[in-house]
Amino acid sequence: MATHAAPPRAPLVRQGPCEGGGQRGMLLLYLLIHLGALGCFWCEFTLIDGLIALAFLQVRGFCISAGYHRYLAHHAFKTSRWMQFLLAAGGCLALRGGPLWWVALHRHHHRHSDTETDVFTPETGFWWSYLGWLISGRYRQTNYQLIPDLERYPELRWLNRYWLLPPALAALLMLCLGGVPTLLVGFCLSSVLLFHLMAMLDAFNHSLGFRRYNTGDSSRNSFLLAILAMGEGWHNNHHHYQASARLGFYWWEVDGTYTVLRLLACVGLVRALRTPSAAILARRRLNPTEKKKAPAPTLTARGALLPASEGAGAGSGRRDAPPTATAPTCTGELVPRAVC
Ligand SMILES: [Zn+2]
Ligand SMILES: [Zn+2]
Repeated sequence: MATHAAPPRAPLVRQGPCEGGGQRGMLLLYLLIHLGALGCFWCEFTLIDGLIALAFLQVRGFCISAGYHRYLAHHAFKTSRWMQFLLAAGGCLALRGGPLWWVALHRHHHRHSDTETDVFTPETGFWWSYLGWLISGRYRQTNYQLIPDLERYPELRWLNRYWLLPPALAALLMLCLGGVPTLLVGFCLSSVLLFHLMAMLDAFNHSLGFRRYNTGDSSRNSFLLAILAMGEGWHNNHHHYQASARLGFYWWEVDGTYTVLRLLACVGLVRALRTPSAAILARRRLNPTEKKKAPAPTLTARGALLPASEGAGAGSGRRDAPPTATAPTCTGELVPRAVC
């Protein structure tokens, strides 16, 4: 792959548009896709429409898992700059907000899991974790302090601002190719399924399943969520070693995203997939009785960042496009509520 210099660092932008979507905008968006999915009952769709929905669901699930999460948030592998953009654009199709906005909130979650400042904390109630944080309008703006390694890329900042463009184009394409049935089934129904799948991850990743590692939080591994969400259910593994491209640490821990990443690595589209060493696999393991007990949530920020080799921003050196290898400096503060 060709190498090229990273673009100049852009000025730190602390105030911006509603990259996470405003309250009314997100509510309207989710209402529309749910109404569209209900419309499937009144339209005649074909097997092809169903297959398109399934394929679109898988592609979007992969892009938000591999692109937003494992690559942009954790630098768990390397790729070219154009592939970085494609993965980020594919993640936008999942309708969870712009890539930089999402990554900043996700890194904040890792630093403050189970504390009162954790965005997804189940302490605030199930519905807050499932849906509330996303449509509350509380976290509208991107906290660029948490993503100094990513905000230097103008194309990512642009995508972060216009993140609704990729899904809008996809919806338009389906309407043009197959008409209303394809739009309702291929786009709306698959969007609703993905929406609830992602919401389940936010709501259950710290409450459903078992714990293998003492991560200082209540993160858990769930086989069911891992099957449904391409490996994202191995959340306790992930909190233990965030820089890994492989969330299912053992062969029996199914991880669809990692399988696809390995295929992409075979054809040279991604490379340097990071995996845990034997020492990391053995570290901080819980004994059988400890696995069943969740630690009491602490309402003081954990604060302690993982070592650079394990940290959220840990990469292994620069590549063609990519984010810097150092873990971003984290103040842990979310951008305050603002009127957009
Ligand atoms: Zn993560
Ligand atoms: Zn977590």
